[in-house]
Amino acid sequence: MADAAGKAPSPECEVFIAQLGGAMDGVWSEVVTWLARSPGTIRAMGNSGVGSQRDSQRSAVYTWERALPAWPGAPLSLFECQELVGRVWHDHLEAPPPRITDGRSRRTACYVYEDHEIRLPRWSRTVMVVLHEAAHAILWAVLPGTAGHGPEYARLYLDILERYAEVDPDIARWRGAHQRPRRVHFAPVGTVPTLRQRAQLKLWY
Ligand SMILES: [Zn+2]
Repeated sequence: MADAAGKAPSPECEVFIAQLGGAMDGVWSEVVTWLARSPGTIRAMGNSGVGSQRDSQRSAVYTWERALPAWPGAPLSLFECQELVGRVWHDHLEAPPPRITDGRSRRTACYVYEDHEIRLPRWSRTVMVVLHEAAHAILWAVLPGTAGHGPEYARLYLDILERYAEVDPDIARWRGAHQRPRRVHFAPVGTVPTLRQRAQLKLWY
C-alpha cells in the first residue's frame, strides 16, 4: 500500500490481508510444502501463517520509496498497470498474475490477497506504486507469513525496482539503511526468491 499524496498511510489494506490469512491456509500449506522441498527458498518454514509477523517497518519503507528519485514514476492507464504487473509476476512465478481493478472508491492502493487483486485508485496508477503492490503479491505467494513491508519485502521490492524502474540498487539500499529516524532493513540476497532465483511455483486461484 502506498499513498502518493504524502498523507499518513492507512494500515487498512495490510490488516485486511492478515485477517484473510486463515481462510487460505490450505493453499499456502501446498506452497510451503513445495518450498520445503526446494533448494534456496527457506524462510517461510518457521512462520505460523500468513500475516504472522508484525509490519513494523511499514512507515520506514513509505518514507524511503518516496525519497527515491524514481518516485512515483510515469502515470499509467489501467491496461498498462495490468501489463506491468503481468510482466513482473511472470518473471517470478508460473501462475496467473493478480488482476488489476479500478480502486476508485478507495483512498489507498492495495493488494487483496483473497481475490488476488490489485486495486488502484486513480492517483496510484504510476510505475512505482504498481511495482510496490506487485512486490506484495509476489511476496505473499512465495513467503507467506513475512511482515507486509519487512526485510524480505524490502529485498524483493528493491530487486524489482532495479529491474523495472532503473533504480540503482546500491544507492537505494544505502539510503534506506541510513535513513533517519527509522532505517529500512533489507534481507540478505538469496533469502527471497528474486529474478535471479526464480521460484517455479504452481498456484491455484
Ligand atoms: Zn504496501
